[in-house]
Amino acid sequence: MIKNLIFWFFITVILATSLQDLNIYNINKNQVNYSSFLKEVNQNKIRDTYISGRKVVVTRKDMTQYTIYLPIKDPRLIDTLVKKNIKVTGAISEEHSIFISFFTSWSPVYILEVAFIFFIIKIQNGNGKNLSLFGKSKAKMLFKNNIKTTFLDVAGCKEAKEEMSELVEYLKKPKRFKKLGGKIPKGILLVGPPGTGKTLLAKAIAGEANVPFFTISGSDFVEIFVGVGASRVRNMFRNARKNAPCIIFIDEIDAVGRQRGVGLGGGNDEREQTLNQILVEMDGFEGNKGIILIAATNRPDVLDPALLRPGRFDRQIVVPLPDIKGREEILKIHMRKVPISSDVIPIILARGTPGFSGADLANLVNESALLAARCGKKVVSMLDFENSKDKIIMGSERTSVVMTEKQKESIAYHESGHVIVGRLVPDHDPVHKATIIPRGQSLGVTLFLPTNDIFNLNREKLESQISVLYGGRLAEEIIYGYEQVSTGACNDIKVATDLARRMVTKWGFSEKLGPILYTENGNEVFLGKSFSKSKYISNETARIIDEEIKSLIEINYQRAKSILLDNIDILNAMKDALIKYETIDSSQIDDLMSRKKVRDPEGWDNN
Ligand code: ADP
Ligand code: ZN
Repeated sequence: MIKNLIFWFFITVILATSLQDLNIYNINKNQVNYSSFLKEVNQNKIRDTYISGRKVVVTRKDMTQYTIYLPIKDPRLIDTLVKKNIKVTGAISEEHSIFISFFTSWSPVYILEVAFIFFIIKIQNGNGKNLSLFGKSKAKMLFKNNIKTTFLDVAGCKEAKEEMSELVEYLKKPKRFKKLGGKIPKGILLVGPPGTGKTLLAKAIAGEANVPFFTISGSDFVEIFVGVGASRVRNMFRNARKNAPCIIFIDEIDAVGRQRGVGLGGGNDEREQTLNQILVEMDGFEGNKGIILIAATNRPDVLDPALLRPGRFDRQIVVPLPDIKGREEILKIHMRKVPISSDVIPIILARGTPGFSGADLANLVNESALLAARCGKKVVSMLDFENSKDKIIMGSERTSVVMTEKQKESIAYHESGHVIVGRLVPDHDPVHKATIIPRGQSLGVTLFLPTNDIFNLNREKLESQISVLYGGRLAEEIIYGYEQVSTGACNDIKVATDLARRMVTKWGFSEKLGPILYTENGNEVFLGKSFSKSKYISNETARIIDEEIKSLIEINYQRAKSILLDNIDILNAMKDALIKYETIDSSQIDDLMSRKKVRDPEGWDNN
C-alpha cells in the first residue's frame, strides 16, 4: 500500500509538471511568442513590462496587453528593455525549483488528488476495517479461521442440529459426499426469532468441519454508499472461493432481501444492488465448490421470492424458541463457564423461563454470576439465579413477550382443542406434535403430518379441517366461557372462513349453488366486500353464498364443540401435559387420547 502511494505520488508529480509545460506551449502558440515579443521591443511598440519569474505581462503602447513566458533564462533582457526605454517592474527572480513551484502553484490540486487516490485505494481494498474512513459505516465482513464452536455448544434445537450435521460431512469431504449421491444445498435459510442460536449453529458447522467462516450482516448495508454493499458481497465471495470449503453466513438477510419494489419510500438502491449481487454470486457457483451459504432471518415472509427459488435459499430450517427441555440444556451449557453452587437445579429455572431465547438464558447465567460477584460470593447460588430471572422478566430489557402462567394455560387449552378434534374427526392428517412455545407470529402450534396428496382434497377432509381449526377457540370457550376467549384464534377463524368460502364458490361443494365457479380469479379468495363489487354475481347469489358458507361453518363448529364436550377429561389432561412438557409428541398424544398416563419424552429426567 505504501508502495502504491509512492507510485501515485510520482505519477502526480509527472502529470503536474507536464501540464505546466503544456501550458507554456499553449500560451506561446496562441498568443505572442518570445521572438515576436523581442521584435515588438525593437519596433518600439512596447510601453511597459511586468516581470515575475518566467512570466512577463507586456503592455503595448496602444494599451493592449499580453502575457508571455520566458523559455530561457535571459539575463540581458532587462538591459534590452531599459535601452529601449521600456518601463520594467518586477524582477527576474531566481528560478523556482520544480518542487517549490509545484507546492506553490499546484498544492491544492495535488492534495485533492492524493486524497482521492487514497480514497480509491481504500475502497478497492474493500475491507471493513479500512472503511473507518467513512466514519459511521459499521458494515463489517468478518473472517474467522479455527473456530472452536461445536454442536456441543448448541442446545434446544435438536431438529435444526440434525439437519445441519449433514452439511458438516459435506464440508469435510465434498467430493466423496457427491460421489455417494448426496444432494448439497447451496443456500440454507435459518428461520427463527432473535437469539435462538442461528449464528451459533452456523459457527458450529464451521467449527465441526474445521473450515473458515465468513460473516456479514444485512442490516449494515442499508446505511452505506450505493455500490459499496455490492462490492463487499463480490469481495466476500471472491475470498470465499479462495478459501473453499467454507461457510458464508449472512445475518439478518431480510434487511437486504426484502421483496424488491415494495416497502416504504420506494426502493433502496443500495439494498437492491446488494441483493442482486448476492443472487448473481449464488448463481455463479456450482455445488461442488464447497461453499455453503447460510442466512438467518426471523421474517421469511418478507423475503424476495427470488431468494427462495430452487438453487438459492431453497432449504429452510426452523430454529424455534427452546422448550423446557431445551432451556434446561442451554442453561447447563452456559453454567459450565461459571462456578455453580450445588443447590442450583437447571430444570426448575427452565420451568420458570417460558419464552426465553438461548440468548436470554445466556444472559441470565451471566447476570447471576455478576450478582454473585457483587455480593462477594465464590459460587453462584439458586437465589442469585432466581433474583436475576425476576430482574430480567420485570425489567425492560426483554422485548419479546413473557408468558404468564395464565397465558400459558390458555394457550395449552387452545392447542389441546386442535389436537383432540384433529384426532377424532374422520379423514384428518395425524397430529405430529403440539407446542405452546411461540413460533413466529402464532402463540402455540399444532403440527399435522399430511398423508394424502394435498391437491386432491375431498369434502369430508375439508370439513374436518374446518372443525379442527375451530377446536382451539372452542376449547378456550368451553373452559373460560364466551367472554374470556382470547384473540389467539383470529388466524384460525380466517383460515377456516377462507376454506369454507372456497368450498362453496370454487370447488362446487354446495348443493344449492352447484358446481359453478363464483370467483373471477381462480386463485383469489373473495372477501365479502369484493363480492358485492363483482358484476358476475347478483345480490341474491351473494346472499346464498354467504348463507352456504355460514351453514358449512356452523355444522363443523358444532361438531368440534360436541367432540370437546364429550372429551373434556382428555382436554384437561392434555392441557396439564402441555404445561409440563411444553411440547408433546405423537406418542404422548396417543397416551392422552387413550386416557393413559403420559409417558415422558426421551431424555426427560424427572427432577
Ligand atoms: P441468533 O443468531 O439466532 O440471533 P445467536 O446465535 O447470535 O442468536 O445467539 C446469541 C448467544 O446466545 C449465543 O452466542 C449463545 O451464547 C446464546 N445462545 C443462543 N441460542 C443458543 C442455543 N440454542 N444454545 C446455546 N446457546 C445459545
Ligand atoms: Zn389455533
